[in-house]
Amino acid sequence: MDDAEVTIAIDPVMHQQGKAFFASLKRAAGKHSLKLSVSSSSPGRFICSISRKESEKFDLFLQELMLNHGPYYYLCSLPNRTAVARLAVCPIFQTLLEFGYEFMYPSLIRRHVLEGQGGWVAGEFSDEMARRYETLFWRLKLKIISNYEFVRDLDDLLTEFMLRRLGYTKGQKTLKFNLLVDECGKQNIIWEKEVRKRFNTVHTLRTRGLHRLEREIPDSEISQIALKMYFTFEYVNDYFEAQCEKTVVLSGKRYRRIRYGSEIRHWNPPMPDDFKVKWAEIITRTCHDCGVRRGEMHHEGCDMETCPRCGHQYICCDCEREYEEDDFEVEGPTAQPSLNFSVEDQKTETQSSGL
Ligand SMILES: [Zn+2]
Ligand SMILES: [Zn+2]
Repeated sequence: MDDAEVTIAIDPVMHQQGKAFFASLKRAAGKHSLKLSVSSSSPGRFICSISRKESEKFDLFLQELMLNHGPYYYLCSLPNRTAVARLAVCPIFQTLLEFGYEFMYPSLIRRHVLEGQGGWVAGEFSDEMARRYETLFWRLKLKIISNYEFVRDLDDLLTEFMLRRLGYTKGQKTLKFNLLVDECGKQNIIWEKEVRKRFNTVHTLRTRGLHRLEREIPDSEISQIALKMYFTFEYVNDYFEAQCEKTVVLSGKRYRRIRYGSEIRHWNPPMPDDFKVKWAEIITRTCHDCGVRRGEMHHEGCDMETCPRCGHQYICCDCEREYEEDDFEVEGPTAQPSLNFSVEDQKTETQSSGL
C-alpha cells in the first residue's frame, strides 16, 4: 500500500526546532500505534509520510492533539516558545492539519497554538505552581512525555514547591528530598501523611530511573499518581484562591469574609452559651469541610463559612452575591500562608475509588 506524503517548509533557522517538534509528534503518534515517517531534504524542509491505510488513525491523532491543546502544551516547555510557535510549530501543525482534513481555518489554528502568549488561557488553575502541574499533567495525558519524564519533572516541581514554601532562597544548601518532606510535615505545610507518602513515592521512582534500571513505569501506576497529584494541586489552587479573596460584595455592599474560628461573633441567631465550650474545641481542629486552619479563609463552597451580612450559612443564605472579576488577586508564593492537605486527601480517596 502506498504512502501519503506532504512536504512542509519552515524557516531554515528553525530547522532544529522543527525537527524536535516532529520527534515529539512521532513519539505521540507511536503511542497511538500510528507510524509517522519524517525525513528532511534540506534545512527547514521536511517530508512527512503516513501509510494511506492509517489515514483514519492520523485524523484521530490530530483531532486529539487539537482538542487537548497538544502543541500548546508542547510549547510550554520551551524558552523561546513564541518564536518557535510562529516559525516552526504553527506552520508544521497547520500543514499537517490541512493534509489531514482541509476544512480547518488557518487563523483558528494559529490562535490555538499561540493562545498561551498573553497569559494562560487553556488552564483551569490560577496559582502558578498548580498551573505548572496542570501543564505537566496534560503533557503526560497527551503522551508528549514518557512516564519517566513525567516523574522526573514532577519530582523537580515538588522539590521547588517545598523549597519555596519552606522559604529557601536560591543557591541555599538544601536538605534531602525526604527530609524536606518531613520538614513540611512539621511546619504543617503538608499536613496529611498520605500526601507526604505520595511525595516520597514520586521521588523514589525518579531516583530509580536515574540508574536507568527502572525507567519503565506502568501506565496504571503513573495515571494513579498523576490523578492524585492533580487533586493535590487542585487543593493548593483552591486554597490560595480562597486566601486571596478577603472581601465579598453582598446586596450592594462590601463585607470582610469571616475567617474560620471567628464565626462565634457573627452567628445569627447567636451561638448558645452551652455550645461555646464545644465550639472552642472544634476550632482547634481543621475545618471539617474544607480543611483550613483557624484564622484562614474557607474555600469556596465550604459549609462552615458564615455570611458576614446576615450571619447565616454563607453557601445558602438569601444575600445577593456579586461576583467581580478584578476583585481577585494572586499573591506571590512567599506571601502565601502554610497549607493543610487533609481534606484534599479525603477527597482523593473518595474520588479515586472506582477509577
Ligand atoms: Zn471551611
Ligand atoms: Zn447572607
